[in-house]
Amino acid sequence: MKTIGLIGGMSWESSLEYYRLLNQATREKLGGLRSAKSILYSVDFAEIEQLQHQGNWKQTGEILSFAAIALEKAGADFIILCTNTMHKVAETIEAAIAIPFLHIADATGMEIQKQGLKTVGLLGTKFTMEEDFYKTRLIQKYHLDILLPSPEERETIHRVIYEELCLGILEEGSRSQYMQIIRELRDRGAEGIILGCTEIGLLIQQQHSPIPRFDTTEIHARTAVEYALNQSPVTSIGLKR
Ligand code: GLU
Repeated sequence: MKTIGLIGGMSWESSLEYYRLLNQATREKLGGLRSAKSILYSVDFAEIEQLQHQGNWKQTGEILSFAAIALEKAGADFIILCTNTMHKVAETIEAAIAIPFLHIADATGMEIQKQGLKTVGLLGTKFTMEEDFYKTRLIQKYHLDILLPSPEERETIHRVIYEELCLGILEEGSRSQYMQIIRELRDRGAEGIILGCTEIGLLIQQQHSPIPRFDTTEIHARTAVEYALNQSPVTSIGLKR
């Protein structure tokens, strides 16, 4: 079994989920007392969030590369970065380490392809929804059509992530707003919805969505376990090395 290196803390609310999901998936696959071998490097999210909103991505890349190097030195066999947004600096992190990096958009893109869907809605931070680093990977590598919420809806989704979900606050009103946004995307042709922020799955379960939901936290954790157990097709397309 490979040892999974997690760069977490963004926020720790979702890192907890990763830890639970990695161990659950390992037990489901191997049974008994089997659990995942993992090492977590958890950052101070306040520092990262401040740098994000200042546009200082260079420094976030340095902080997360430092974490990745520490995980490699500690014995991790490969790395997962437990946030969609910070994949904006994935290339910087990959360049700093010699071990593989399992990209969250690859795990997600493969899962959507496996289910045979083509047009999907994307929910996440404004960085993830509006910038190219995430969408382009899904479009170019997995040939998906991505639908985005309106600019006002994107503001709402972003605000709820930083002011509620990353603080562990689950509001019924916010859930209704997210549900309305998913229904609108469905009406515009979305066959599925990507929960492209690792905390959204805490608020939106399958019963809250009329179309299949692709929870990036669940998919990323499951793919990591399959890779750790040599049961994943991810080796050829999902990983750089
Ligand atoms: N966890 C979130 C994500 O998956 C947002 C927090 C962050 O900015 O990293 O994008």
